[in-house]
Amino acid sequence: MRSRSTYAMSAIAAVSALAAACTISDPVPTPSTTTATTATSTTAAQSTTAAPTTTAPATTTTATTTPAGGTVDRTRLPIGDGKRSSEPKVGYVMSCDSSFAARTGKTDLWDNGDGTFDLERKPRVLGDVAWPQATFSMSIDGTERVLKGNDLPTSHTSGVFPIQRTDPVYPYDRNPNTITAQQLEIRVPARPTLAAQPSCVSTATPGGSVVGVLSSGVYMLSALDGAGDDAVYHEVQDRCDGHPHRGGVYHYHSLPDCLPDDGTGHSSLAGYALDGFGIYGSRGEQGETLTNAALDECHGHTHVIDWDGASVAMYHYHATAEYPYTAGCFRGTPEQVVATNNR
Ligand SMILES: [Zn+2]
Ligand SMILES: [Zn+2]
Repeated sequence: MRSRSTYAMSAIAAVSALAAACTISDPVPTPSTTTATTATSTTAAQSTTAAPTTTAPATTTTATTTPAGGTVDRTRLPIGDGKRSSEPKVGYVMSCDSSFAARTGKTDLWDNGDGTFDLERKPRVLGDVAWPQATFSMSIDGTERVLKGNDLPTSHTSGVFPIQRTDPVYPYDRNPNTITAQQLEIRVPARPTLAAQPSCVSTATPGGSVVGVLSSGVYMLSALDGAGDDAVYHEVQDRCDGHPHRGGVYHYHSLPDCLPDDGTGHSSLAGYALDGFGIYGSRGEQGETLTNAALDECHGHTHVIDWDGASVAMYHYHATAEYPYTAGCFRGTPEQVVATNNR
């Protein structure tokens, strides 16, 4: 067992493979909202525990300057292979692990041949599978935020997995995994604080290197695929940027297009990292497109945000179109999330 977490409560996401062996043949194309517990970021329980601004815990800077907006060309995204480190580093994933699986699949269809790839040319796994049994809830319990569900998408459909031989993406990715309901229960600090040092992301978590959970109830993993390289470049996801890994754990490696992030100002809250800090979309305070140049070594920054109904200067992560796409390490103290059958 890892012992890097000093946070008192243990968070166990025990993976139950036998229960709920959801078939991938479900043809119903309707949205899966029937029995889903809707995931909302604001509840009465949360607002009652929201503290005033006087205790803003995660401020590292008082700078009020606005970073210049960058541009990201989705047809020429730098491939992140090799950008993995044991130390925190801007544009990298700080990984706890050094050994990874062998590479499978191919990528020539969307590789530009110059170290970049074309996300627009990359195909998506076919299918429109509804998950009416998807559940997810977020609540506050004392000083903790409780994220609870089954890792099935509450707000969108998925592709058909395992990837079918008839799917045009099959020559590129033969993902053999079946999306399977998981037992997801994570307790993170409701008011997270910065740790003395950043911590690495670990593959000893459900499906790979979990960095958090998004409002759809689905795990967000780091940028690393099973081979320790750029998952968005190498792996083929469905139209909502999800796919299953070992143990059938459905997950994203980047902010899915299916989670709306409309508006012109700072992106809205998309989910929570394992250290309790928020994960937001790709827009900064003035609505500018954030790039690695505007973010720190863990892919985040600090400024005033709305947090459970209060305005606080707090650290948070941004999910962007540029590798490593989401948190590359943890600035807080990540909860242990343990998979019991992720092999
Ligand atoms: Zn993956
Ligand atoms: Zn921000």
